[in-house]
Amino acid sequence: MKQKFDIGIIGAGLSGLTLGNSLLNKKIKNFILFEKEKKTKNDKTYSFWSGPGLFDIKKTFSVKPKKEWSQIEIKVKGASYKIDLGDYKYACYSSESVLSELYKKLTRKGVKVERGCVIKQLKKNQNDWEIVLKSKKILLKNIIDSRPNTKFDDKYPSLKQVFVGSEIISTKKVFDENVVTLMDFYDSNKDVIFTYILPFSKTKALIETTFFSYDINFRQVEKLHKLTLKKFDIKEITRTEKAVLPMSPYTNVKLENQYFRIGNFAGASRPASGYAFTRIALWANQIETKKEFCVEMINHKQNYLTNWLDKIFLSVLRSDPQKAPEIFKIFFTKVPIASSARFLSDQSRLVDYLVIILKLPKLVMLRGVINLYVK
Ligand SMILES: Cc1cc2nc3c(=O)[nH]c(=O)nc-3n(C[C@H](O)[C@H](O)[C@H](O)COP(=O)(O)OP(=O)(O)OC[C@H]3O[C@@H](n4cnc5c(N)ncnc54)[C@H](O)[C@@H]3O)c2cc1C
Repeated sequence: MKQKFDIGIIGAGLSGLTLGNSLLNKKIKNFILFEKEKKTKNDKTYSFWSGPGLFDIKKTFSVKPKKEWSQIEIKVKGASYKIDLGDYKYACYSSESVLSELYKKLTRKGVKVERGCVIKQLKKNQNDWEIVLKSKKILLKNIIDSRPNTKFDDKYPSLKQVFVGSEIISTKKVFDENVVTLMDFYDSNKDVIFTYILPFSKTKALIETTFFSYDINFRQVEKLHKLTLKKFDIKEITRTEKAVLPMSPYTNVKLENQYFRIGNFAGASRPASGYAFTRIALWANQIETKKEFCVEMINHKQNYLTNWLDKIFLSVLRSDPQKAPEIFKIFFTKVPIASSARFLSDQSRLVDYLVIILKLPKLVMLRGVINLYVK
């Protein structure tokens, strides 16, 4: 049996499903998705900013947040700095709810999602790509691949975000349920290390131990994570998540023979934070319809200033990790929250760049600039 589609999307994760929904909105229907997992997993917690002037993800995705917060906290050397978010919110969503909703919308409109198939090698015939599934041969004019890379970009100033998270129930009321601990820093000269806490109630929270580092050393992250968890009188660990995310300003969309790359390793991941949700939502929303499918439809349109500032941030994080706690403290306490939320959400205005540049410590940032161009 032979089937033919204009587009084959490999990976029905966040970028694949979001792209699928956008194509449908543009009345493009001749596509198929291939996903290795049989069922949608609840293995990620997606968090991002919402508020005035920001793209309304909640409405676009028609999903309910697991929880929203109006206050965040940064902790440096034991001192706590609480920031009131005003009209802005920091919200988290379960990956299962987001992906299930996106998946439902596709299948309701008759889009085929082949689940439980691990795509390994792709064959190129004269005009088409070919995928063989059991007795079926599927011919595809274009391939859009969202599978993660096995290799990370090590070119300066790239880093990796390595983290382990546990959703826990404590025996005691240890959490302030109204305040997200965005970054509680450890002292380190080698990596940027911090704890991130999303408190769902006084006794329930997601606690993550995160390293911004050059190496990938899960044993080290897990060891510190275990120590951190000890502080919270744990009754039960209900869920865990872990990942290595790219923090790199260089993207490789790898363009050859109607083969394109999308997702975390192709420009979706924000270099200075590893966050990708908002970027993926904005990217999919901006997709233009062209007569023939082409790279311009799915390319991440880079914002030069955001990318340049991200490079400088990365350069500082990689060369002077011990300075990171102070820089993040200044970023969240001195820059108005509207500017920092817009910057972190890829929706900066000119005034936001100006205020960020003015507020950050000049000498450290200057060294970051010099390292960027010298290394
Ligand atoms: C645990 C975790 C927490 C995160 N938290 C946040 C957050 O709070 N905020 C934020 O902005 N970003 C966050 N991110 C980053 C980013 O938003 C996610 O990684 C997002 O899922 C990226 O989308 P993607 O499509 O690139 O990758 P994925 O969503 O991982 O999609 C890739 C898909 O490809 C499938 N696949 C892989 N190999 C094959 C194969 N051989 N054949 C077929 N299918 C295959 C996978 O099963 C998966 O479904 C987080 C990432 C992780 C891992």
